[in-house]
Amino acid sequence: MEKIKMTTPLVEMDGDEMTRILWKMIKDELLNPFIELKTEYYDLGLEHRNETNDQVTVDSAEATKKYGVAVKCATITPNAARMTEYHLKEMWKSPNGTIRAILDGTVFRAPILIKGIVPYVNNWTKPITIARHAYGDVYKNVEIKVPGAGKAELVFTAGDGTQIRETIHAFDGPGIIQGIHNTDKSIASFARACFGYAIDTKQDLWFATKDTISKKYDHNFKDIFQEIFDAEYKAKFDELGIEYFYTLIDDAVARVIRSEGGFIWACKNYDGDVMSDMVATAYGDLSMMTSVLVSPSGVYEYEAAHGTVQRHYYKHLKGEETSTNSIATIFAWTGALRKRGELDSIPELKEFADKLEKACIKTVEDGKMTKSLSLISTCENPVILNSLDFIKAIRTTLETLI
Ligand code: NAP
Ligand code: MG
Repeated sequence: MEKIKMTTPLVEMDGDEMTRILWKMIKDELLNPFIELKTEYYDLGLEHRNETNDQVTVDSAEATKKYGVAVKCATITPNAARMTEYHLKEMWKSPNGTIRAILDGTVFRAPILIKGIVPYVNNWTKPITIARHAYGDVYKNVEIKVPGAGKAELVFTAGDGTQIRETIHAFDGPGIIQGIHNTDKSIASFARACFGYAIDTKQDLWFATKDTISKKYDHNFKDIFQEIFDAEYKAKFDELGIEYFYTLIDDAVARVIRSEGGFIWACKNYDGDVMSDMVATAYGDLSMMTSVLVSPSGVYEYEAAHGTVQRHYYKHLKGEETSTNSIATIFAWTGALRKRGELDSIPELKEFADKLEKACIKTVEDGKMTKSLSLISTCENPVILNSLDFIKAIRTTLETLI
């Protein structure tokens, strides 16, 4: 069989620990035998980030801007323990944070649904994609612990010195205050990334805030979304028969639980943080969650939502067998390859991505799976495979589909 050819390289961001091991297995078993893989390789493994003073992360994000599509392996975000473990020069920042800041992107997370792994909410038959605004609000807050009686004020001083002033509260004893902010620019980027992704995936978009209580702050989000929708996206939504729907956050939560899924739920930063954990748990397994960073200019970076699976890696280093689920990492590759196929008009690449995803799902539905999946599957006699044998089983299924 002739291998599928690519025209534009994918930006390949290698990573750390167990997912780095899976990364190589996936390329050896599932990609290289079928595709003449064209990638521009960036090693985001912590050792190389440290050697390059984290320049490699910046370079990989710049390359993503240039080529348009990247696929990323999970990476270590350094903490105190990692400083000693890897003899780091500095506590380098989270690569995902650095990349997100350069691409100005929004992260969309969606579960991979498989028969036999039943969501806790049993009417959720389609995936719910959560889009979380990744800038500002309580994540960039300023807080004061009020020591005693006094007046707290909110003051804005313009460049020319004029001021806007509001009393927050006249305290007659100790308490707390907090200042939060966002920018119209960041909210508009978030809105465009959401509308663009809804068009891309042909799904309805829901957005919700607490604008009845937060009459200026949250209302500003609602207004910016509506203005951008009406001016730039409404016609395309109508053409595709998809809907933009705004409601109050309380109402959204109730509707989400009653829904069958199959839509994008855009959330403000805090709502997205909390709700994505709820949705991921309700669908069953973090290792079955995909993640894509989409910039408002239409640049894509695909990855798995889970981390580097450190515990399994330490077992692997000791020579013990691991049973790590590679599906979300495989779906990062298929997402990126499909997008490259779309952008470069290579239908064979898109078909290959579809078939590889189907092969993953079919392998598990046929009863062959990793340990973590067997624990939540309704399959009666699952065959539990180690990390490599699971990938090999997917390859066998893939070969029957090609
Ligand atoms: P994690 O790597 O997601 O793993 C947490 C636990 O979840 C694992 O120990 C394992 O449970 C289970 N798990 C996760 N993915 C799995 C998979 N594919 N197959 C089977 N089980 C899986 O989170 P962590 O241990 O908190 O973080 C490890 C490192 O990853 C940290 O250095 C963190 O900075 C980094 N991280 C990176 C990203 C990213 O690059 N996007 C995201 C999150 C975390 P059992 O051990 O019980 O089997
Ligand atoms: Mg969270």
